[in-house]
Amino acid sequence: MSRTLHFRSLQYAGQGPGPRLIVTGAVHGNETAGTRGIGRVMAQLDSGKLAIVNGSVTFVPVVNPLAYANGARAGDRNLNRNLFPKADPQDFEDRVANWLCPLLAAHDVLLDLHSFNSPGEPFVMVGPRDNDGPLEPFHREREERALARVLGVRRFVDGWLRTYGAGVQRRLRDDRELETVLRYGVGTTEFMRTTGGYALTLECGQHDDPQAPDVATRAILNTLAHLGLVDAPRPEPVARDRMEVLSMCEVHDKRADGDTFSRPWTSFDRVRGGDEIGRRADGTPVVAGSDAVILFPDSAARAGSEWYYLARENPDF
Ligand SMILES: [Zn+2]
Repeated sequence: MSRTLHFRSLQYAGQGPGPRLIVTGAVHGNETAGTRGIGRVMAQLDSGKLAIVNGSVTFVPVVNPLAYANGARAGDRNLNRNLFPKADPQDFEDRVANWLCPLLAAHDVLLDLHSFNSPGEPFVMVGPRDNDGPLEPFHREREERALARVLGVRRFVDGWLRTYGAGVQRRLRDDRELETVLRYGVGTTEFMRTTGGYALTLECGQHDDPQAPDVATRAILNTLAHLGLVDAPRPEPVARDRMEVLSMCEVHDKRADGDTFSRPWTSFDRVRGGDEIGRRADGTPVVAGSDAVILFPDSAARAGSEWYYLARENPDF
């Protein structure tokens, strides 16, 4: 069946110069808030209610059509890992990548729309600080973070690839494997930044939250206005005192399949230093070293892979 699925993008170009924006939905096939938000904005453009006057916007309502058709997160595998063009594609997601990566590289800015599993507030994942390091060199921090502040949400998380990379490094005995495994951490936004662009992942809310498509729609419209693609007032950035900024700083792996959480944690739950987070399979308590926020807890993780992340508040954005 997957051989007959085609890939689809739609572009609106203005007559004036401006940035080339790409907006993506359903990178994970069961995350459809972005698909619906894109549909609403395209309806406004197609009816003439809204017009692109500068630059261009490309919409990809469904990035992963196999996962989308199945109502599942992934087709053959998670598209948002090891996202690079492949000379010898092995699975459906490799074939998506061979279409998607050159498309991303032909743009300046990516807004990637997702949703999440447990109830909670929308948040934005932003990239690294400007740096020339080997892991994720980047020079568009100011533009990226300025866009993040006008999307219409107040919660921000940074430091993903750095934290993931530190966890990988700890697990590996042989440094030569490091680059291979770090490539595994590259998804849409990380790939976009390797091409000289900047990129944000917006997590619009719980998968079935009826407000999540509204969050996606507002974020797209605000992005179009912020970048000057439409004739509209520039949206006001969220006030500093309303922002919640979290930097991911630790990843904790399961050591055995039988490691268990002491509570059914959900992302953004707060722990105090000394709180018990879980128990190792042998009964040893796993305790928070200091006050922190839990992110992406995965009770189903396998031994040797990421169990949960810890983040700390970072007033500096
Ligand atoms: Zn997702």
